[in-house]
Amino acid sequence: MGAPAPKQFLDLNGRSILQCSVAAFDAHPSINHIVVVLAPEMVASGKELIGATSRTCASVAGGARRQDSVAAGMRALPADVDVVLIHDAARPFADAALIDRVLAGVAEAGAAVPGTRVRDTVKRVPAGGDRIAATVPREDLWLAQTPQGFRRQILEAAMARANDGVGATDDGMVVEMAGHPVKIIQGDERNVKITTPEDLAAARVATSPGPRVGTGYDLHRLAPGRLLVLAGVVIPFDKGPDGHSDGDVVCHALIDAMLGAAGAGDIGRHFPNNDPAWKDAAGLDLLARAVAIVSAAGWSVSNADITVILERPKLAPHIHEICLRLAATLGVSADRVSVKGKTNEGVDAVGRGEAIASHAVAMLTPAAGKAR
Ligand code: MG
Repeated sequence: MGAPAPKQFLDLNGRSILQCSVAAFDAHPSINHIVVVLAPEMVASGKELIGATSRTCASVAGGARRQDSVAAGMRALPADVDVVLIHDAARPFADAALIDRVLAGVAEAGAAVPGTRVRDTVKRVPAGGDRIAATVPREDLWLAQTPQGFRRQILEAAMARANDGVGATDDGMVVEMAGHPVKIIQGDERNVKITTPEDLAAARVATSPGPRVGTGYDLHRLAPGRLLVLAGVVIPFDKGPDGHSDGDVVCHALIDAMLGAAGAGDIGRHFPNNDPAWKDAAGLDLLARAVAIVSAAGWSVSNADITVILERPKLAPHIHEICLRLAATLGVSADRVSVKGKTNEGVDAVGRGEAIASHAVAMLTPAAGKAR
């Protein structure tokens, strides 16, 4: 992979590949115990690496060959366990339906391996060369996956026979070599083994939480002698919003939309209006703090759309500057910020010019490489 950590510990949107792989089994009602086989130097921090599980979960040191690691894991199983599933930690997409099929295969045949049919044409090329020696018929070829399932006694007997034998590339092979029938069951094309950086990139897209949307609303009374400021732009007028802060309804509504999208509460929780720290606080300053809050939670702002409702004065001459200031604070290009001015057609307090109101919608997308 060319990565500093073993691939099983690389991040998949906030959880390691290993943690994702364990989670499918941890959530399955038929699974009672989980044993994670780790490199010997990692066993001490096993709990931390695996994370919280609802099943009993042990971690043990693996061995030199694959079957030595499997044997170490088997020794850690409680005596009453009679069916064992063995899974690659680098396959984070095994799901409950696949586990169900493997368990059904074990119940029927004692040993079951999930696989998918080979769809591409297969060529045989002798090692070291670049010349195709043959096209291999693919009708009877399957690609083996995990989890592979076995009655415990069948696998243990096969492992005892295979001891000191050839290095098996999967556990089904050990049982096959012992002469026990192994049933192939339908695997899952999505149950990929993460092997290359391209696999990892695709897995991150597949596990991405996707965009989030939030809405916000704010209203302030207009009072004589107060400055009318929207997103840091001073708008000449004889009245301005009353309030503990500067009453910047554009920033306040947008902050609530962003916090709402991130599931991070609201403006009152982060900047309470009885806290002297926020007395006369500038809207753009609070907005910058909200950007930091959602960013720490793993999100970046994708776009924002804001409607300001104000009877007078006309906002049109100031809209462009308001958008530029918002975009600069959000760290996005100006085309991702929209501000529209409306009147309230003379209706209600806003229509009588007694108040200014604003609605906002914000879209957040996952920030690359951040935990959520
Ligand atoms: Mg407000």
